[in-house]
Amino acid sequence: MEKTCKQCSADFIITTEDLDFYTKVSPVFQGQKYEIPAPSCCPDCRQQQRLAFRNERKMYVRKCDSSNKIIVSHFKADTKFPVYDYDLWWSNLFDGIKYQKEYRFDINFFQQFNSLLQKVPWASKSTSDMKNSDYCNNSSFLDNCYLVFDSSKNKNCYYSTTLCRSEDCFDCFRVYDSKNCYFLSHSSDCTNCLFSHNLTNCTDCFGSNNLKDKQFYFFNQEYTEVEYHEKVSAYTKEHSHEEISKETKQKPVKNDNDNTCYFSESLENSKYCLNIQKGQKVSKNNYDISHFGFDLNNSYHCTQVGLNTTDSAFCYYVWGNCHNIYYSMSCHNSHHLFGCIGLKNKKYCIFNKQYTEISYNELVPKVINHMQKTGEWGEFFPMNISPFDYNETVAQEYYPRDGDDTITKTQNYLGSKYIIDPDIQNITPDICEQVLTCEHSGELYKILPQEFRFYKTMALPIPRICPEQRYKERQEKRIIDKLL
Ligand SMILES: [Zn+2]
Repeated sequence: MEKTCKQCSADFIITTEDLDFYTKVSPVFQGQKYEIPAPSCCPDCRQQQRLAFRNERKMYVRKCDSSNKIIVSHFKADTKFPVYDYDLWWSNLFDGIKYQKEYRFDINFFQQFNSLLQKVPWASKSTSDMKNSDYCNNSSFLDNCYLVFDSSKNKNCYYSTTLCRSEDCFDCFRVYDSKNCYFLSHSSDCTNCLFSHNLTNCTDCFGSNNLKDKQFYFFNQEYTEVEYHEKVSAYTKEHSHEEISKETKQKPVKNDNDNTCYFSESLENSKYCLNIQKGQKVSKNNYDISHFGFDLNNSYHCTQVGLNTTDSAFCYYVWGNCHNIYYSMSCHNSHHLFGCIGLKNKKYCIFNKQYTEISYNELVPKVINHMQKTGEWGEFFPMNISPFDYNETVAQEYYPRDGDDTITKTQNYLGSKYIIDPDIQNITPDICEQVLTCEHSGELYKILPQEFRFYKTMALPIPRICPEQRYKERQEKRIIDKLL
């Protein structure tokens, strides 16, 4: 079947195998299957929609909205919803059920979901089982790590992204089961490999690429152990880090996977997945999943899902022994949820409201029928309800947009192209709500309300450069005093 993408107008193909998959993962209530329709957007646009919900690396200092404690979070200080300190959110003091709402059939689903999203508190970070690794995010089972993201089961690792089961690694990217590595990317089972790319089961390699089962390779050439160490020692003495990095820079290579699942370990019968990590067993029957796996089965169009999760669709940040969950966010150890946010250890809930199993099975089909009428059933959450601005998320890395773009107009854009009118009389106080981008340095800055009042009173134009840049400009004009 050929379709035209609703978002980018590109043509894309849906195969019979795909149609069988959508049928297979369609939920059943009271013996009746509620068919998930074939997607209306192409695989790339679907991936972009999911990635627009993942802030992988940006962290902020802010207050916990319950205790006022200063915390580190991937949510900015001015989110519309409350953010709770991680430990508090996971304790018995927080229960998302108290934010329950009655489903209404006169308002569309996503509108109601968005209003629930503005109220339910989120945990400050997206982590689990961390030890002395406070400045890491989107990770689990890290011990003594710092600025490590999208990673799991590492010890003593730093400044790395997508690093698994590794120890004593610095500045690595997409590296698995490795030790003592630096500036290594797209590699696995390596030890003492430096400034290298695409290595498998290699030891003591420097500046090398595309090698398997090799040792003592310096810029892809084999040496004896003694020669290798002499070469590395001489080279690193003569070159700065930047020179080495430039010299060993790799051109991006096309992924040689089956072209429908990228950077994923142990996946079967799956398509359009990105960054799925290995669990106890192979993950099976998943389409359109971005991050993170660990025993994820029979699921469709989700992001940040896994850790023994099955039979779920259209979810974001749903993990840890979950099944039969649809259109939900931030739910754990739960099953049979529909349109829920921030629930732990719950079952048979719709919009955070507790139902009996019988009434849940009666109401969900009615909600699906309503969503079929509004054209929402089968669609992922709209990007404009993401808790993050577009350029805070991984979507910006894969599908870069600027603030003027038609797509990002549907989602906030951090430091967006707010046009500062040269005439102060035309500017309203809402400028103080904006995050502005310095025209000179690109740094983000804000205008304080008292600053705005000052400019207005003095009839001065609003500066288009940040305070630091303004300071530098003044410094450039300073009278140089020389101590005699
Ligand atoms: Zn598209």
